[in-house]
Amino acid sequence: METVIAPSITPPPFKYLVNEPDKWALFLDFDGTLLELAERPDAIEVPPGLERLLDRLYRLFGGALAVITGRSLSDLDCYLPPGNLPAAGQHGGELRRGPGKVQVLKADVLTNPIRDRLARFAVTHEGLMCEDKGNSIALHYRGAPKQEPAILALAEAIVRESQGRLEVIRGKAVCELRPVGINKGTAVRAFLAEFPFCGRWPLMIGDDRTDEDAFAVALESGGAAIKVGAGGSLAQWRLADPGATRDWLRGALT
Ligand SMILES: [Mg+2]
Repeated sequence: METVIAPSITPPPFKYLVNEPDKWALFLDFDGTLLELAERPDAIEVPPGLERLLDRLYRLFGGALAVITGRSLSDLDCYLPPGNLPAAGQHGGELRRGPGKVQVLKADVLTNPIRDRLARFAVTHEGLMCEDKGNSIALHYRGAPKQEPAILALAEAIVRESQGRLEVIRGKAVCELRPVGINKGTAVRAFLAEFPFCGRWPLMIGDDRTDEDAFAVALESGGAAIKVGAGGSLAQWRLADPGATRDWLRGALT
């Protein structure tokens, strides 16, 4: 996908951009967007009031709010009220349209030998963490940035061997393998096909490369996209960091 450098334009206040919430659907990445990144994915701290903020936005949007994350849904539920919010986990590999309504897309192409190979690599290289989420496998290397070339070489070798059925997704100090054709953009599209999201303009907010697929779908659908933090993006607006994002979202409720 072509990525362009987004202008450093702060979005208009929430109430100006989304002046009719019943015509919009809100899609939010989690790590690095709603809360600050941590050394390890299990070391994040949920800011006070985030849960209440999301709950109020969920109601304002008539239920058309979904968290679109790379985490598994079971992991996400450790940090947000379990099972309450619509959400996509594992970059679209899992979709929850409502409490108890979870669809898991199949990932047979991630075979046990591949899972073992990545897990073994992580335990034999200091500072790495292998996270097998089921539909995708992530190697986290925030604690060992010098390992990045070796990790990418391994991931690319596995992709070649998969004959095009797997792809590498790179994020902030994380390299992930997932089946081709499933991403945050397909997740947003799946939500937009159903009530209460259908017929609304999507607004996607995210901070990482994996959010670009969702930005593209939001823009194609006549909606809007906001990039959080530095880096090139398709998004037309930018917020500085997760704190600024929470402040901007709170503007919906004043
Ligand atoms: Mg993120």
